[in-house]
Amino acid sequence: MSDMFCFQCEQTAGGTGCTSVGICGKKPEVAIKQDELISALIGLARAAEGKTPSKYADETEMQSLFATVTNVNFDPARLDELKKMADGMTVKLGGGKEFNPGTLFQGDKDVVSLRSMLLFGLRGMAAYAWHARVLGKDDPEVTAWFYKGLRAIGEEHTIDEWLGLLMEFGKINLKCMALLDKANTSSYGHPVPTKVSMKVDKGPFIVVTGHDLLDLQQLLEQTKGKGINIYTHGEMLPAHCYPELKKYPQLKGNFGTAWQNQQKEFANLPAPILFTTNCLMPPKPSYADNIFTTSVVGYPGLKHIHDKAGKKDFSPIIVKAIELGGWKEDKQFTGINGGKELTTGFGHHAVMGAADTIIAAVKKGDIKHFFLVGGCDGAKTGRNYYTEFVKKTPKDSIILTLACGKYRFNDLNIGEIGGLPRILDMGQCNDSYSAVQVALALADAFKCGVNELPLTLVLSWYEQKAVAILLTLLSLGIKNIYLGPTLPAFISPNVLKVLVDKFNIHAISTPEEDLRAIIG
Ligand code: SF4
Repeated sequence: MSDMFCFQCEQTAGGTGCTSVGICGKKPEVAIKQDELISALIGLARAAEGKTPSKYADETEMQSLFATVTNVNFDPARLDELKKMADGMTVKLGGGKEFNPGTLFQGDKDVVSLRSMLLFGLRGMAAYAWHARVLGKDDPEVTAWFYKGLRAIGEEHTIDEWLGLLMEFGKINLKCMALLDKANTSSYGHPVPTKVSMKVDKGPFIVVTGHDLLDLQQLLEQTKGKGINIYTHGEMLPAHCYPELKKYPQLKGNFGTAWQNQQKEFANLPAPILFTTNCLMPPKPSYADNIFTTSVVGYPGLKHIHDKAGKKDFSPIIVKAIELGGWKEDKQFTGINGGKELTTGFGHHAVMGAADTIIAAVKKGDIKHFFLVGGCDGAKTGRNYYTEFVKKTPKDSIILTLACGKYRFNDLNIGEIGGLPRILDMGQCNDSYSAVQVALALADAFKCGVNELPLTLVLSWYEQKAVAILLTLLSLGIKNIYLGPTLPAFISPNVLKVLVDKFNIHAISTPEEDLRAIIG
């Protein structure tokens, strides 16, 4: 009998499942509480059937699913609190049939595989929905699907029904990503291409990581005129390209690389770090006192900034920044390839704005292929595949990228085509909607389907938002995706066969071999 079971992320133990403790640091107590929380959410979804659940019930479903995403919340007390809220709302709705958490990952291998894929997709979509909601955007169809999806997880279905549910989920997740795009761009404007420095100025500073732009904006407001600089980290990098965020002069640059390097990069940092979302790794004692969490992020013993009616008081972080004082001299940092500057901000609005240049370059033969190389980064050594892949792409190709997987190559200068950098960073994983929009616009411009375009998706996955995005791409009928660094442990051989037969999904091999197969 194992102490826990979790196989939701790419780094799962032995490529099969974490059974004694999570490679991510998740303890059995937390894994069990997460399963109990999911069961409580299924109970709430059952109780809500045919009724109108309250706004608080909707938010509990979203926040709880988000809290169970990898590297988000390690705090048993917070998970208990969320479960209590879910149970309380279930009672208010008149009660529902209980779901046994012990059965979540048990039963026929293929059913477990399909059920898990839907659950993990819902976890990813909850993150997108929550970011949109804090910015005041909600889509009732998306919100209702959390209940539908959770109920479906607690029911029996044939394989075909499961596949149908997954495709329906993919389409709903596209709506959710569109909602988040609207929330971000209506709040902060359309991203504009922006060069971001990797130099940290002397003096007090704060590092902000995760994906939540509202948290960053509130911190920028509260640090106005205080002589404290703000640096983004990881997935917060694209914040520099939003007009309503870049207007703050203290938003100076980006510190560090992708999330998995945090234990090295945060050690001895003379500044506090705010985690607005994943990916939080168990902090080392050398810097644990400098970490602040907020929103759904949690870790026992770390200081947490609470939300009070949509407002957060970041003064404890500001005090900490002044106390730590920053460095005495400016410090120049680099990306993993030695680059000192990063360029971001090529969201769908910016890329469509350059559509004439791109189409003319394709017609002239200056651009022969587009690659979308993106997704989540992780610690596996095999992930240097993505660096090598990008370095080896032909000079007449454009690399669209997004999410933290880009830290493998976003400091490389691989040239320009028609004045456009060959690497176009479209933003966070939360901005995958941009990639879909650009692919559809290219197909429209060249009067063909997305699968007929000279476009190949080469994706890296790590956590559950990648599962949600993959299901959206499949629901759009996109074929020939290259996926790595390894295939998900939760995809059973039979389910994989279906995905390969239907969508021609490939596991990555070597950059040379894959490039040969793609462009000859
Ligand atoms: Fe293991 Fe990943 Fe689950 Fe953590 S989230 S326990 S590493 S499978």
